[in-house]
Amino acid sequence: MPELPELEALRVRLGPRLEGQLVTAAEVSPRRAHLLRYPPESFAHELPYRRFVRTWRRGKHLLFDLELGGGGDLRHLVVNPMLGGRFHLTGGGQPPPATLVFSLRLEGGGELRFLDAAAMSRVYWTPDPARDVPAWTAMGPDADRLPELGLGGFRRRLRRYRDELKDLLRNQAFLAGLGNAYSDEILWEARLLPLRRRATLTAEEEEALFGAIQTVLERSVRAILDHPGYQESKQDRHFMNVHGKGGRTCPRCGHRISQLGSGRGPGREPFNFCRGCQV
Ligand SMILES: [Zn+2]
Repeated sequence: MPELPELEALRVRLGPRLEGQLVTAAEVSPRRAHLLRYPPESFAHELPYRRFVRTWRRGKHLLFDLELGGGGDLRHLVVNPMLGGRFHLTGGGQPPPATLVFSLRLEGGGELRFLDAAAMSRVYWTPDPARDVPAWTAMGPDADRLPELGLGGFRRRLRRYRDELKDLLRNQAFLAGLGNAYSDEILWEARLLPLRRRATLTAEEEEALFGAIQTVLERSVRAILDHPGYQESKQDRHFMNVHGKGGRTCPRCGHRISQLGSGRGPGREPFNFCRGCQV
């Protein structure tokens, strides 16, 4: 499931190629029309003749702002890709795959396609995400905004919660954009065990967590963008230290990497950590 670094890399890659482009036609696949939280016929009717003006990210959502000619009537195409949602910017012309959710034809002949093999993504077309996207207003600051929050602001947010650290980092109300994979990486970086409770953290450990979130996010966005053959659809996470590496050797201390979690149901995905160097 894409988290903040994957979505940020996507924003950096897609944004400049879309901004300024005019949509000439929109199509919704009947098989995936239920993923649109908006009547599909209106979607197909309202997107054409709008221009992409901005691509941005909030939590696990990617947003495309589109306006009508003359700079009026700004609307947002909000996509939460969930498990299997992927974007594909093509030259146009090829037949659409069966997993197509929607496609937007662009003035220059290109086509932005959104595909979803898992059929779990959510797509909203709205003038106001706060009104139409569930839990939008409950989201905390994006996890890459910690420099603005500062260590003091981070500590104040942190102390509102009593959860285990693994649950806390995945809680979108605490910080938005993190999920199972990057919370593993952040806790490894901070040398903290996932089942530690927030209230047991020392001041130094709070600071380590504050630093680790920034380090891991920056490093991961760079790793994805620097990867020449990176394919969004494969979600390559080779650069990770512990996540998805249960049973292998910890790159920091050489201990065997642990794995917990049944994998059954949301919030129970297998997660990884090192008992050798995380406390
Ligand atoms: Zn270790």
